[in-house]
Amino acid sequence: MRLLLVEDDPMIGKSAQKGLKQDGYTVDWVRDGQAAELALENGVYDMVLLDLGLPRKAGLEVLANLRRRKNRIPVLILTARDSVADRVKGLDAGADDYLVKPFDLDELAARIRALLRRQAGRAEPIIEHGRLAVYPATHEVLLDGVRVNLSAREFSLLHALLERPGVPLSRVQLEERIYGWGEEIESNAVEVYIHSLRRKLGVEFIKNIRGVGYMVPKEL
Ligand code: CA
Repeated sequence: MRLLLVEDDPMIGKSAQKGLKQDGYTVDWVRDGQAAELALENGVYDMVLLDLGLPRKAGLEVLANLRRRKNRIPVLILTARDSVADRVKGLDAGADDYLVKPFDLDELAARIRALLRRQAGRAEPIIEHGRLAVYPATHEVLLDGVRVNLSAREFSLLHALLERPGVPLSRVQLEERIYGWGEEIESNAVEVYIHSLRRKLGVEFIKNIRGVGYMVPKEL
């Protein structure tokens, strides 16, 4: 899952990015409102973590523009404790949730998981598909009830494919999910991770659609 973090406070930004990366997310961090809009126009993200008090363009304006363009990406607002009015404005402008700074990284991670679940149309914290059960909170993967060990990137890839069974994702889309800015993408990385996932789970779990990309079949 790829997240856009918009935060001008270097301490908060750095610790949030570090913590979320450890949780297996790909996190791109921008420090002002204009950079956020540019990133959102050009990149594919699963969620935006949006500070409101930002240089160059206010967070509320970034949010309003996003919704005006009918972009339905989940937005989690990060606000100061004393700004109740801003939180209300943010939620009314189309934010999905908010978190008051300073926040606990575990709470941030839990809220992100909750929003991603809702976005995928699920209320339950486990993704079950055929013989697979996947726990985004703990990165545990069970096949017929038996634990399968996956690397962080293998997990991200599987998670991305499982959010939309039956819908293929291209190699570039998958690369965007598992690599952040400035991270060097090894050639054939996606193919290597897919190969490894098939070896661990079984070839039937990931289909190659020639010229299109990869998908988890709808029925397993
Ligand atoms: Ca700020």
